[in-house]
Amino acid sequence: MYKRILLKLSGEQLQGEYDSGFDANRAAWIASEVQKIVENGSQVIVMIGGGNYARGAQLTGGGVRRVSADNIGMLATMMNAIALTDVFNAEGLSARSLTNVKSDQVMDQFTHRRALSHLDKGRVVVVAGGIGRPYLTTDTAAVSLALEMDCDVIMKATKVDGVYDSDPSANPSAVRYERLTLQQAVEEPDIKVMDKAAIALAADHQQSIIVLELLQENNLVRAANGESVGTTIV
Ligand code: UDP
Repeated sequence: MYKRILLKLSGEQLQGEYDSGFDANRAAWIASEVQKIVENGSQVIVMIGGGNYARGAQLTGGGVRRVSADNIGMLATMMNAIALTDVFNAEGLSARSLTNVKSDQVMDQFTHRRALSHLDKGRVVVVAGGIGRPYLTTDTAAVSLALEMDCDVIMKATKVDGVYDSDPSANPSAVRYERLTLQQAVEEPDIKVMDKAAIALAADHQQSIIVLELLQENNLVRAANGESVGTTIV
């Protein structure tokens, strides 16, 4: 069993059945899946994305500067964290959110010690604001946070059940990898797990990653128990 898990949830997963924004039903379902890992004895830190509201790269242009667009993207992750943490607590999963963007009125500032203290109390920690700087994604922030918090594994929850040698929605004969090395994930251009900056950081520090499908019941708890789920990158 992995003792401390960094779960990367993208904004897209929180929009559930909608085209954008936040789906509380989906969040409640995620709460029940995360609850199983916590009851199983793992500590969980969530790095939350914001793509259901805004992505910096897409917003840039027509006068909007990249730095401003990325700030908007980071604010989007905070909106998700606020709502997700409420739903987690409402569902009986004790959780607190922390942000790397200074905004005292809205959320406590992330500090290493604060995060540890929440984890020690059995709470899930939802981290917003990426790492608080532009030109990065929450994937890279997830790897950085996993390293900082000494996580045993990163679980990257996706729509598909792992990493394929080509896009499975375009190529029906695409083959799923059960195991990959971090080196392969960095070097092979067709392997798209996270952005390359994130994977390169993970490879530099031997941070293992499991890519799995979120919407399969018990996937998270099975992976937390060390069962082979999705694609494991070590
Ligand atoms: N972002 C940023 N710095 C960070 C993390 C995120 O500037 O450390 C911005 C960036 O514009 C990004 C947006 O926040 O596009 C939302 O994050 P992301 O695209 O990773 O969300 P996801 O695709 O996981 O929903």
